[in-house]
Amino acid sequence: MPTAVSVLLPLPLPAFSYLLPFEQEKPVLGARVVVPWQAGVRTGIVVKLEEIPATKALELKELIYPLDYEPFILPELLSFIENLAKTSISPPGQILATLLPTGLNETLIHEVKAIAGTQLELNLEDWSGVEKLSPGQLDFLRKQGLILERVRIEEAKLRVLIPYKKPDEKLKTKAKANQLQALEWLWEVETVESGAELARQADVPESSVRTLVKNGYAGYEEITAPPPVLPSYVPKTLPLTKLYASENHRAVTGGYRAERLAALIPILQGDLKRGKSVMVIVPEQFILEETASYLQGLMPLQVLSGELTDAQRKRFWQELSQHEPLILVGTYLAMLAPLRQLGRIVILEEASSSYKLQSGPRLFVSSSLRHLAQHLTIPVMLSDSLLSPEGLSHVGEAQCLYLPSPERRLHVADLSQQTNWPLSSELIQVLKQVQERDRRAILLAPRRGFSAALGCSDCTWLAECPNCDLSLRYHQDKRQLSCHQCGYSTAIPLECPNCHNVNLGAMRGAGTQWIAKEVSKHLPGFPIYRYDADERDTLSPLLEGEAGVVIGTTALLRHAPLPDVSLIGLTLFDTLLGVSDFRAEEETLRLWLQLAELSPQARPLTLIQTFQSQHPLLEFMAAKDAEKAMKFFLEGVLERRKRFHYPPFAEVAKIQVSAKQEMTAQREANWLADALKLHVKDKGEVVGPSAAPVTKLKGLYSYQLFVRDLAHKGFETLLQPVQAYARGARVRVDVDPRDIGRFLD
Ligand SMILES: [Zn+2]
Ligand SMILES: [Zn+2]
Repeated sequence: MPTAVSVLLPLPLPAFSYLLPFEQEKPVLGARVVVPWQAGVRTGIVVKLEEIPATKALELKELIYPLDYEPFILPELLSFIENLAKTSISPPGQILATLLPTGLNETLIHEVKAIAGTQLELNLEDWSGVEKLSPGQLDFLRKQGLILERVRIEEAKLRVLIPYKKPDEKLKTKAKANQLQALEWLWEVETVESGAELARQADVPESSVRTLVKNGYAGYEEITAPPPVLPSYVPKTLPLTKLYASENHRAVTGGYRAERLAALIPILQGDLKRGKSVMVIVPEQFILEETASYLQGLMPLQVLSGELTDAQRKRFWQELSQHEPLILVGTYLAMLAPLRQLGRIVILEEASSSYKLQSGPRLFVSSSLRHLAQHLTIPVMLSDSLLSPEGLSHVGEAQCLYLPSPERRLHVADLSQQTNWPLSSELIQVLKQVQERDRRAILLAPRRGFSAALGCSDCTWLAECPNCDLSLRYHQDKRQLSCHQCGYSTAIPLECPNCHNVNLGAMRGAGTQWIAKEVSKHLPGFPIYRYDADERDTLSPLLEGEAGVVIGTTALLRHAPLPDVSLIGLTLFDTLLGVSDFRAEEETLRLWLQLAELSPQARPLTLIQTFQSQHPLLEFMAAKDAEKAMKFFLEGVLERRKRFHYPPFAEVAKIQVSAKQEMTAQREANWLADALKLHVKDKGEVVGPSAAPVTKLKGLYSYQLFVRDLAHKGFETLLQPVQAYARGARVRVDVDPRDIGRFLD
């Protein structure tokens, strides 16, 4: 019986079936194959093989060629991809395109040949490059079954300069001493990357090298490129810790980031000793580098990140499948890595909002990894300063190792009692002490730029973005207004377009520029640095121990810690709390805990400016027994989430309906809400629709509704009306949405 091969391509589509040519061997599951696609070819992954009746075979296109004889993706991960597609309501091909970092974009040499006995006036008796045919001709000949096709991967080539002839008598004159010197050097080193490079190495003018090439003593040739070098990391020593995780633990929480990693070392070493590899996933590049530095030298290590070049990723993938047990440190791009004997998945900073992918299937990587561990029936280990309620309920509180939390000193400055906006008198006073004692301070502002908005003090006019429902951010230094969402920017108007008042001024929250200006007023002569997406001053004087103040956004959390900081100030605590997301409080608490990473060696005073000095969260933050406070806080959060049907008690999906006309968006959202209510009945709950928090964004109006999966039926069943939707609006599903506004604006 003929064999049909299901192939998943890195496109937002399901798998396609192709016919295996009868003379070809069956490919293995998870291997790469090349298939005809439109008027060309594409590389995909074999996800299924099945025997089909001969009549059905006629409907299928023939597969072209296998690229691997071993799985490129381990077969046990193929059903995981399928599951992720179902739970995130995205086509499986999109999951593949998002998670597989290499292998499907090889440069291919594609050749065609006429089937023996056919008379084509195209000179295709021998294998020749497909460029000979127009796309139309290729498509036609394929459909008629008149040609054979084959492909292979084009090896990476490098153009180098190599020597051809030994130095002869002609070169041994005084005038040609430079040429002789260059040629002798080239024979010595055998190849160089370019003529300029040879001139530099042999210390001769480039013209001498050019003459050598012209006279046939040396020439350029293409050679197979050597494998790229994989990055290495400067080893760092882990801090000592008294508490280590044991086999019974499933999570580490509290303490500093490095302490939590140190607590995991015996677990990692134990796994390696048993012949198992461990996947250690991190949310961001700077944590990846830090983790790799700590583990380098302690155990066999491989690192995969988005920063690697294509060639480096390819080498990484190839070597990984043949490697002895090792620790793989990577971002989400390592999720499908071909690690044989995988014994455990470690998720560092498991609650980080950076784990939410902002495009494609919009996965929350942390929960995808927990599913992966379940799928492979291996243990998972979580680590964070404050675990997510989802993570905590997954591993069970009894399996947590609590590290003592850093000692903190907290002072809350009530902004509602102040006249000195944006700096409270307390903050000014402490800053003056920092200056007098030649110390260092960090101030975190909720946004970059000068202020959240520019407006008129006489009427209520605010400068707004023409494409979005957002006020334009005021950048005083560039005399510009810009939208941080769509990138629109414009010059500051000379007068209020509404009442012609010429005194336009900063409105709403103070950004880094405004804070910096105020601080310099109060601390004349004291060094002030800025650190945000607009301006990254070099902080090396502070790293070397000089005095000064840094004013930045949370971008500072990605910077190397500064030594002996005396003061950390949060200029406006209310910004995060004000976000309409049920995770706002946890995120704020997590940010507070992360602030300790800004200066791990010191015990700085933390000063928080807020309009809500009675907020219960501040009590937790000030508590002496941090561990108890955390447990109590998380219990409260879980209790509330249970009551209001939030994860982990019910899965939530956001459905966003967008259109160019506001009316259309609203009408279609209503239509979809009705269809969903009819469909889910008592299995779930449909909330909304309501206008999206930012209703107009980049010229599109959006309405949103939420569906809660109360009976754990799975969204692939509950959201069928959404998947079947084919009317006038753009509909996007986001399972497990996280709309928390990042502090880094
Ligand atoms: Zn006005
Ligand atoms: Zn905009």
